[in-house]
Amino acid sequence: MAIIPIYNCFHPVLKRKTAEVTEFDQELKDLAENMFETMYNTGNGVGLAANQVGVEKSLFVINVKRNKEDKIGDPIIFINPVITAFSEEEIEIEEGCLSIPEYWEKVVRPEGVEIEYTDLDMKLHKIEADEFLARVIQHEFDHLKGILFYERISPLKRAMAKSKLRKVQKGEIIPSYPMIQPDGSLTEGEPEDEN
Ligand code: ZN
Repeated sequence: MAIIPIYNCFHPVLKRKTAEVTEFDQELKDLAENMFETMYNTGNGVGLAANQVGVEKSLFVINVKRNKEDKIGDPIIFINPVITAFSEEEIEIEEGCLSIPEYWEKVVRPEGVEIEYTDLDMKLHKIEADEFLARVIQHEFDHLKGILFYERISPLKRAMAKSKLRKVQKGEIIPSYPMIQPDGSLTEGEPEDEN
């Protein structure tokens, strides 16, 4: 298993739509495993899309049930996902993104979704999700379409975030995990405070 650098949200790879997965091979299994490892390495990540690690394929991984230090939980791999229904009810939940270090904001989205996806064995699944899981699914699904969560917030909140996002864009906010910055350079990650 390997930890892969995560791309900063201002890198062009995060603005492009991903392509359908057609090869269900060992390479795809390795990618999914490495994506989980990369996500766990960040400490608090609960979801990661393939284009966040520079792979322009339509898949993301989620694990919302684990403890912070614990890799066990309920890992799910969503390949070629399609959201087939949204609830009418909307809720506001704070979001963050591993591609946008040190920025969190409340976002209004549908409370629940229905999603179809394929697993690593090409088996088709359809699940209903609500609350936090539905939120992480929608955030990751957006990544596959080249959409970032700050594009879903109000113009006012976005204006308030401008200086923070500009720092992210300049690569001035270095996360604790390896990151490919918008200019293509790699930052290794700054160690967490030991307490
Ligand atoms: Zn994200």
